[in-house]
Amino acid sequence: MRIGIIGGGASGMMLAAQVNNKDITIIERNNKLGKKLLLTGNGKCNFTNLNFNDLNNKYNNDFAINIYHQFDNISFIDFFNNIGVVSKVETHKGINYIYPNSNKASSVYYCLLDRINNNGVDVIYNSLVKNVKYIDEKFCIALDDDRNLVFDKLVLATGGKSYGNTGSDGIGYSIAKKLGHTIITPTPGLTSLKYNFSDNVELKLNGKCRVNAKVSYNSYKDNVFFEEYGEIQFNDNTISGIPILNLSNKITRKLINSEAVHITIDFSSSLLYNYEQQLISKEIVKSTLNSRRQNTLYRNVRDFLCGYLPDEINEVVLKLSNLKKIRVSELTDDDIDKLTNHIVKFNLTISEPPNFDNAQITLGGVNTEEIDVNTLESKIIKGLYFSGEVIDIDGICGGYNLQLAYSTASIIAKVFKE
Ligand SMILES: Cc1cc2nc3c(=O)[nH]c(=O)nc-3n(C[C@H](O)[C@H](O)[C@H](O)COP(=O)(O)OP(=O)(O)OC[C@H]3O[C@@H](n4cnc5c(N)ncnc54)[C@H](O)[C@@H]3O)c2cc1C
Repeated sequence: MRIGIIGGGASGMMLAAQVNNKDITIIERNNKLGKKLLLTGNGKCNFTNLNFNDLNNKYNNDFAINIYHQFDNISFIDFFNNIGVVSKVETHKGINYIYPNSNKASSVYYCLLDRINNNGVDVIYNSLVKNVKYIDEKFCIALDDDRNLVFDKLVLATGGKSYGNTGSDGIGYSIAKKLGHTIITPTPGLTSLKYNFSDNVELKLNGKCRVNAKVSYNSYKDNVFFEEYGEIQFNDNTISGIPILNLSNKITRKLINSEAVHITIDFSSSLLYNYEQQLISKEIVKSTLNSRRQNTLYRNVRDFLCGYLPDEINEVVLKLSNLKKIRVSELTDDDIDKLTNHIVKFNLTISEPPNFDNAQITLGGVNTEEIDVNTLESKIIKGLYFSGEVIDIDGICGGYNLQLAYSTASIIAKVFKE
């Protein structure tokens, strides 16, 4: 029985690494496997996580949650340990991220490749699959060099559409569509966002900075209530950082439909030493500003917040508060109220849809209703399987997406081993 895997990314590699079968062929358009895998986690590869509670907030649908349960983070860590990749935990703000102890995505890549070679898997490099036809219960594959291949079973592991220069540019969706599947519209996920200051759209941040803060977005209409604390990076007219990337998964569809999104940033939580005490009240910020006023009466108002938040943010907070005074000694209680409000409720408007170039993942993909969750076989075409990001499954930042790529591959590997 000949098995073809289209795409040798994280998922295709994981599948081929688990099945000792010389009749398996990976077809990869690049001259090497795992191009995107090597970029993950800034080259360190955050490949899973220990925090798998509250899965409805980690994954986009029940299908993804079910997949995770069939091959969870512990199975994942064990698998990699067995092929030589020892894991380590890095804890930031209460989240336990898992990385290879080597701190290198390349060690994950080499250990998988070693398994693939050892399993005798045939890898066809530099070959783009242009089209797939299902004829007489066989899959006839047309390559871009006009060669044709025939397989009894076929796995689409073509990834999503983000970072298209890694090889995953969305062509897998067209192949699945031609085979009769419906595609949930692909949109960019885990991406930075362009912003304006809602309270003064002309205002621009003067420089770049990083600051810890709580990001909130509520939409009663869509039943979305997002709140996350973490480091935010302000970069000219874009914002990023883990809370923003996670937020992007909730709002990119709205942005693509030309709906502006209003978010709030609360800097008060960054004023504490311990992030767990993030429920600092507005009153505490106000009383801190009041005592600051007493201690810096001699200062120019321009410098009142110096040392409180990053200078770039201070400047905007002062401008938004529209203070007419020159010396701190002239500030009134009303001025302190205005400053406090802008520190705890820094309003941004996001209106521009993001593109796929900066997105770490793609939301959408092959409709999960058309796939058997226990085998990942198509319910439309027998012998056709889907693995990884090509499916309409996605997760937040923190190793949750590679976990899905590997869990899907492991479910299919189990089917092929039986
Ligand atoms: C910069 C960046 C950092 C990331 N960091 C993390 C992280 O730290 N942790 C995490 O969990 N996730 C991370 N991700 C997401 C993660 O990389 C993906 O979710 C994962 O790679 C998906 O695996 P996949 O095998 O489904 O797709 P891919 O890895 O994209 O692989 C698909 C493969 O299919 C090939 N292909 C596509 N179409 C064809 C065709 N027609 N013919 C032949 N070959 C084809 C492509 O060349 C590619 O090699 C990151 C993503 C990016 C872009």
